[in-house]
Amino acid sequence: MAQQQGFFSLDEAVDKLGLSRPEIYRRVQDEALKGEKSDRCLRFAVEEIERYAAVLEQERDLLQKSIDRWLAFFAERLADYPWAVIEDVADKPVTEQMAELGERILQDALGEGAQDVYFDPLDAGLRLLYSVGRCQEVARFDACLTEPLGTWLKGLTVLEETVPERLGEGLARKTWGETGCQLRLTEVPTTLGSHFHLHLFTDYEGTSLEDLGYMPEQAECLRREFGARPGLFLLIGSGVPEDERNRLVLARNWADAGRLVVCLDHRIRYRAEQLVQLELRDEAGPDFKTLWQAALDMSPDVVVLDEVRDADQAQALLEGVQSGTMVLVQVRAGNMIEAVQKLLDFEIDRAALGRALLGGVDKAVVRRLCPQCARRRPLRDDELARLGLAVGDGVGTPVGCSACGDGYVGRRSVYGLWLADTELAAWVADPQIDSPLPPIGPESLTEVLRRAVLDGEATPEEALALLP
Ligand SMILES: [Zn+2]
Repeated sequence: MAQQQGFFSLDEAVDKLGLSRPEIYRRVQDEALKGEKSDRCLRFAVEEIERYAAVLEQERDLLQKSIDRWLAFFAERLADYPWAVIEDVADKPVTEQMAELGERILQDALGEGAQDVYFDPLDAGLRLLYSVGRCQEVARFDACLTEPLGTWLKGLTVLEETVPERLGEGLARKTWGETGCQLRLTEVPTTLGSHFHLHLFTDYEGTSLEDLGYMPEQAECLRREFGARPGLFLLIGSGVPEDERNRLVLARNWADAGRLVVCLDHRIRYRAEQLVQLELRDEAGPDFKTLWQAALDMSPDVVVLDEVRDADQAQALLEGVQSGTMVLVQVRAGNMIEAVQKLLDFEIDRAALGRALLGGVDKAVVRRLCPQCARRRPLRDDELARLGLAVGDGVGTPVGCSACGDGYVGRRSVYGLWLADTELAAWVADPQIDSPLPPIGPESLTEVLRRAVLDGEATPEEALALLP
């Protein structure tokens, strides 16, 4: 279209301003840029385009300064991590610079041990929070970064055939050298704009049972004993990511030993190549019964279920065992007794459950005593009795120093291995027995907690509070 006297056409405005047509339409709609209709086409006064070009120049300048500042900020933080990958994007387009900023944020979060990362909208701008035990603010981004960061985040998990790292449905995999993670993105609309939540799953491909906190003899026993014979194996969990990892690492161990492991998840949060993973959808897709049968039809060595939600599912567990499969199920309960009780609450047959039980993994989390400042003290008589010890003269007690604050550094998972025997089967099967669980073996939670106390890693107070 030829230029009218004193006006630019839409195409000319695209050219002069370096914006796309939709971007120009949006700015006209927002009344940031004044245009007028002429002959059913948009046109712009030459002075208006000149004015707006200057505004844009200023905006781009601000954006570039902001990107440079945060790229440098995260590069400095990443200097602590030898595995971190930093790309020079100084001469690249803004979208690539934003992508690099995003990569640096993710690597930083991973390095800091954050499992959850939040991009939380403010009146102007966006704050970045990491959850590492507790929530901490890491950065406050300027308003000009809100939109480009949102665009980058939304693009992270969009399924694209040419990008195998994008796993679809909000899931993606990221790797930097030897380090990597999978992430799940959730976008929550708020009155201030989109709030983004990224959940990071550290790549567990190389994670061993020992890395999770199992003792070597427990890990050995789990590898040897299970997956080879039919029965029901219970895994205590409360739905936290760590419990999920526990389940996946166990499943992967058996898969690595050449067993066919089929996992049924109400929601798949991590894609693992060694496992056959089926997802139970609440609304669309096949129902539980169909999927469970499909899993059993594969003649698997192990079927893994992430959670029991109703009586039908509880009953299906026993049917799976009867078909000759080992069934591993995660039960949301505080301890093994509660887990058994929870299954019984679904009114499955006590005797059948007693016969089917192979054992399970009990879990507790203790705070780790700070090795710098913990004091030693002798055990009191009542503690000796309850921990079942003859002597204990040097257990730890928290003090607090500049390194730790309150006497503790982090937390540690403690697992108890619970192997079913005839006594236990009788306990489960007999509705008259109201006694505590029968005494349990050398790999039990009691024993592991006792060792943590003797090693000075946990306080006797905390260990005793966790014992049944
Ligand atoms: Zn300390």
